[in-house]
Amino acid sequence: MNRQEEFVLRSIEERDIRFVRLWFTDVLGTLKSVAISPAELEAAFSEGIGFDGSVIEGMARVNEADMLAKPDPTTFQVLPWRGESPGTARMFCDLMSTDGVPSLADPRHVLHRQLTKAADLGFTFYVHPEIEFFLFEQSAPDSRRVSNPPRPVDEGGYFDHLPQGTAHDFRRAAITMLESMGISVEFSHHEGAPGQNEIDLRYADAMSMADNIMTFRTVVKEVALEHGVYASFMPKPLADHPGSGMHTHVSLFEGDNNAFYEAGARYQLSRLGRQFVAGLMRHAPEITAVTNQWVNSYKRLWGGGEAPAYVCWGHANRSAMVRVPMYKPTKGQATRVEIRTIDTACNPYLTYSVLLAAGLKGIEEGYELPEEAEDDVWALTDAERAALGIAPLPRSLGRALEVMERSDLVAEALGEHVFDYFLRNKREEWEAYRAQVTPYELERLLPRL
Ligand code: GLN
Ligand code: MG
Ligand code: MG
Ligand code: MG
Repeated sequence: MNRQEEFVLRSIEERDIRFVRLWFTDVLGTLKSVAISPAELEAAFSEGIGFDGSVIEGMARVNEADMLAKPDPTTFQVLPWRGESPGTARMFCDLMSTDGVPSLADPRHVLHRQLTKAADLGFTFYVHPEIEFFLFEQSAPDSRRVSNPPRPVDEGGYFDHLPQGTAHDFRRAAITMLESMGISVEFSHHEGAPGQNEIDLRYADAMSMADNIMTFRTVVKEVALEHGVYASFMPKPLADHPGSGMHTHVSLFEGDNNAFYEAGARYQLSRLGRQFVAGLMRHAPEITAVTNQWVNSYKRLWGGGEAPAYVCWGHANRSAMVRVPMYKPTKGQATRVEIRTIDTACNPYLTYSVLLAAGLKGIEEGYELPEEAEDDVWALTDAERAALGIAPLPRSLGRALEVMERSDLVAEALGEHVFDYFLRNKREEWEAYRAQVTPYELERLLPRL
């Protein structure tokens, strides 16, 4: 047993922990959890805990169903919402086949592979997400579900300070809980739509952050229930209001040095930073199915409300897909770029993998960054956008999958197993959606046809 594993065992005894939850994530980004007793932990650290992979989305084929979950002791945290004594803790796990080989279906492993590739080039990948979500009223007969249609808990807008607002109390409780689990919060506020909030996490390396996002969603859902409301990360729950994105600021560090920073360069963005952005842009259409993985994601992207629908970059331009935020003279090391496509309902491990793959490709191939978009690109005509070389992102999940299935970059980044599973699963989602006869059609067409 190593020192970290010993630390976990000691903490469990000192803090009277009776249940240890082993957490991992399926290919679609759903958190999975199995609780073990502390007595099982030594074996879990050395051999892993067996489970049936065939019942988990994207994990294993039925004939090779047995898998092992091995807890990562560096992710040990007590779960505050489970009460003090006896307590419950959690660790994220790495998944393996029964012969101890890392599972190709484990999103954490997919990200680990991509981060190793970056490390071989001398880079650490840092990310900082701005997480948006809605608070809705619960439905009366079933207090754990959202009302239908969803009713936002308030009528607030961007940065509104609402007297006696549910949102204030909610954010304070959620942030306190996140901080007690070692997740630092930088910023929080009411967002543009009624009932919509945003909480921004302090930057961390991509693996820690992907774990943090999984924890964040759980904490936000738990705290919402405690406050008698329902939290949703659905990208576009209300047709007439902005959706929920997860703008993500990214940078590459070489040791202690921000490789995106170059004093005196335009927006202080180094050549390497420009190549990274060029990679994000060139490969944007093929990675969109991963960063925006639901039928509903495309209603956000193409529904206005400051979501980006076109491949372009800008500085102060809120319609751009990638933004190079304001440079503060004292903060060279904080140079970063903000990717605005991603939504909060993505699988963060897979999303960071494809973003990093696209950016590194730009560096490896020395892509040139196209001209900055200074206009509001939504306001231009198709012809004007075409003249500026500004292409649209995929307009639907179906279209995004067509582009993704031809992508060597995504196949390589996800690995064949996850790539194939993802395409198969998402095509089914798209076909099921396409087969619907919607209330819109019935209302518009039935009276006329
Ligand atoms: N909610 C918007 C989106 O979907 C972003 C709004 C903002 O943070 N400026 O991307
Ligand atoms: Mg923000
Ligand atoms: Mg926002
Ligand atoms: Mg932002």
